Amino acid sequence: MVSYKELGLVNTREMFAKAIKGGYAIPAFNFNNMEQLQAIIKASAETKSPVILQVSKGARNYANQTLLRYMAQGAVEYAKELGWEHPQIVLHLDHGDSFELCKSCVDFGFSSVMIDASHLPYEENIALTKKVVDYAHQYDVTVEAELGVLAGVEDEVSSAVSHYTKPEEVVDFATRTGCDSLAISIGTSHGAYKFTPEQCTRDPKTGKLVPPPLAFDVLDAIMEQLPGFPIVLHGSSSVPQEYVDMINQYGGKLPDAVGIPEEQLRKAAKSAVCKINIDSDSRLAFTAAVRKVFAEKPGEFDPRKYCGPARDLMEELYKHKIINVLGSNGKAE
Ligand SMILES: [Zn+2]
Repeated sequence: MVSYKELGLVNTREMFAKAIKGGYAIPAFNFNNMEQLQAIIKASAETKSPVILQVSKGARNYANQTLLRYMAQGAVEYAKELGWEHPQIVLHLDHGDSFELCKSCVDFGFSSVMIDASHLPYEENIALTKKVVDYAHQYDVTVEAELGVLAGVEDEVSSAVSHYTKPEEVVDFATRTGCDSLAISIGTSHGAYKFTPEQCTRDPKTGKLVPPPLAFDVLDAIMEQLPGFPIVLHGSSSVPQEYVDMINQYGGKLPDAVGIPEEQLRKAAKSAVCKINIDSDSRLAFTAAVRKVFAEKPGEFDPRKYCGPARDLMEELYKHKIINVLGSNGKAE
């Protein structure tokens, strides 16, 4: 058993309460490797933004759980070295799919876990979520749960269609499970293809796809039922066209990739939405930078020469999200 407190990490409780009061959201960035982690920590330290390091089951298998724990511990020390006196860093399990996985993460130094039983019937979702909450709370680890189904693919989690969260269920669910935050479905979606061209309209000037708006009426109804309760948005990458264009220009093939417009996320961040998950955007930035080097310098074979530019571009992306979209800069001095 390793407590996250020994690693210098924090849970989400106080962070979320402050974010809701202050009208901003905490970035939850997924990471799988050293370059992503370096970019996240540098961006967070320089902007003094609280940050959630998010690990999916797939990432845990990819990077190895022991290595991940020490990477998170190293991240805290690295943040201090960069001059961030009191780093507020959460290590969070994204889309935990079983009690055993969540328990293992709690035991291994995670400060927050998500149990995603949203695909199960309602009563089973409650039972499994409560079981995870009862275990995690013994160690002061916070728990995110999910109601409603998002469309798209994220590691092993996938669904062809979305079902919006039902506002009439949220009070019963939050009360009976004791969860600390709730991921909801209001039209965000996993991956770099969040909407089919049929779901979008086309901008007559640019020919680019314009996605349908998020269901803010559903969010409003949920906030009315659960005033001040922390709400989480998954699948909230914006799929920046500059990265998609770069990828396509340098030999990639991502036709009609489309994400959530940033102005909609800006609006959500001002509400009780206090955690916004961003994964695909950093994958796109990484890939765009690597492709550019490969295309321009075919003789290059030193990984630092293409992972370095990828890291720089991700750092720029993370800072942009923190400062211009979520508004979390300066909230962890
Ligand atoms: Zn997700």
